[in-house]
Amino acid sequence: MTQKTCRQCSASFEITDDDRAFLKDFGVPDPTSCPECRLRRRLLERNSRKLYWRTCDLTGERILSQFHTDHPFPVFSPEAWWSDEWDALQYGQDVDFSRPFFAQFAELRNKVPHQARFVIQGTMSNSDYVNNAGYSKNCYLIAEADYDEDCLYSNRVYHCKDAVDCFNCHQSEIIYECLDCIECHSLFFSQDCQNCSNSFFLKSCIGCSSCIGCVNQRQKKYMIFNEQFTQEEYERRKKGLRLATSSGIEDLRKRTVEFIRTQPVRYVQGEHNENSTGDHISNTRNAYFCMDCKDLEDCRYCQRVSMGVKSSMDYTFWGDNVERAYQCGACGNNVYNLKFSTMCTTNLSDCEYLDSCTGCKNCFGCVGLKKKQYCILNREYSKKEYEDLRARLILHMKNAGEYGEFFPKSMCSFSYNESIAMEYFPLTKNEALKRGYPWRDERDEKPDVKKVIAAAKLPESIAEVPDDILQWAVTSEGSGRPFRIVKQELAFYRTHNLPIPHLHPEERQDRRTALRPPRRLWKRPCSAYGRKIESTFQPSRPEIVYCEECYLAEVY
Ligand SMILES: [Zn+2]
Ligand SMILES: [Zn+2]
Repeated sequence: MTQKTCRQCSASFEITDDDRAFLKDFGVPDPTSCPECRLRRRLLERNSRKLYWRTCDLTGERILSQFHTDHPFPVFSPEAWWSDEWDALQYGQDVDFSRPFFAQFAELRNKVPHQARFVIQGTMSNSDYVNNAGYSKNCYLIAEADYDEDCLYSNRVYHCKDAVDCFNCHQSEIIYECLDCIECHSLFFSQDCQNCSNSFFLKSCIGCSSCIGCVNQRQKKYMIFNEQFTQEEYERRKKGLRLATSSGIEDLRKRTVEFIRTQPVRYVQGEHNENSTGDHISNTRNAYFCMDCKDLEDCRYCQRVSMGVKSSMDYTFWGDNVERAYQCGACGNNVYNLKFSTMCTTNLSDCEYLDSCTGCKNCFGCVGLKKKQYCILNREYSKKEYEDLRARLILHMKNAGEYGEFFPKSMCSFSYNESIAMEYFPLTKNEALKRGYPWRDERDEKPDVKKVIAAAKLPESIAEVPDDILQWAVTSEGSGRPFRIVKQELAFYRTHNLPIPHLHPEERQDRRTALRPPRRLWKRPCSAYGRKIESTFQPSRPEIVYCEECYLAEVY
């Protein structure tokens, strides 16, 4: 084990023997910043929060883009970007050994067109307003999502159908305002549930149906706030809760929050894990300090990756059959041996320092390439030339302290408050700027509508809402920001008898993610017998936090 001082935040951090084995296997020098600073940097490579209107720089059409108009590089619509109408090799540069590599790479990156929205070509249908998504149809404002149908306003939904306002849900159908749920059906306003159905406001339940406001229950039916009722009594009480009205939902939301506080919480969330540490992980083996991941093997410091990831470290966002990724952000879908790269996808292997490349093998320091090999700074070489030049360049970078580091902060793809960094580690504008992260001031465009209505003035139930609402804008009860209701969304609320939400979609997303503990681990005692645990619940927090053994004794 080696103790080091983080070059970014000055905190001391460990390079453990297991880290060391990984670094040796990858053939890279020690990282100079701590795991959290490395993570923050990668989080800036994904914008799942904002889309902007701008012009496609190839076709001139008006498009929605994850990149604001002030980025230096051209931005193409996904169709134009994936087309053969342009060739990224035309931007090729020679390597200049008299200058640092990152400066040369930044010049290249500022010239090569980027994809307006990060989608996998030919896998999406009827889903124009989505980002970071693939293999989905009839979806609207979803991000970090794959294999979905009829999903709206959701982040991190995979293999879901009819998911609206959800976060981090898998294999579920008809779910609304749910987070961290797996294999659920007709579930509303619930968190950390598995295999639950026809229920409202559940927390940490498994296999429950027809329940309301329950916490830590297993295989229960007709329960309200953990109290067992007959079916008749349950139905009678359910009516009294006025679940079809906004005031009924808000009352129940408050009561549930209060009730949850009185119940023990599990120290971390996860199912089917072997020899693993982290939170919200499932189906993992030998995962160390991983968060929000599924289906991992031999991984360290990974976040938000799933669908099969092996032997990877410092890897954030996506997954889908990935092996040997190191210090990558927003890369995935059949990837092998990729280092220090961002926004790369599909059948990629043995590459380093890439931005927005797809289908490449043996490339180094390239931007926007499709199905190329033996390229450096977008210039093609013979195999032998490539190998010699690459070796020379790595030595050059090592001498400058560049090799082994992810792209510098000056090359962040997004500003701090556009990126997922804001969700994991919220900062104010001043704090972010002080730490050297870019920031973008937000401004909503004035909606072009025939009527603007304050959320508080909306009808209590969906039955009283006219079709005309599709022509209105609603001003959020929280921030006053205007938002619209779309046709597909209105139909969902009507089918499931749900009132119109009173908050702007982004505030709804923030409210959901605020329900999770911070994405950190603290050493602390179990609240029952003091066993030492590593938990996302800081010792000073008021929750009753149980270790696995005490938690299982409580729920079974
Ligand atoms: Zn640090
Ligand atoms: Zn315990």
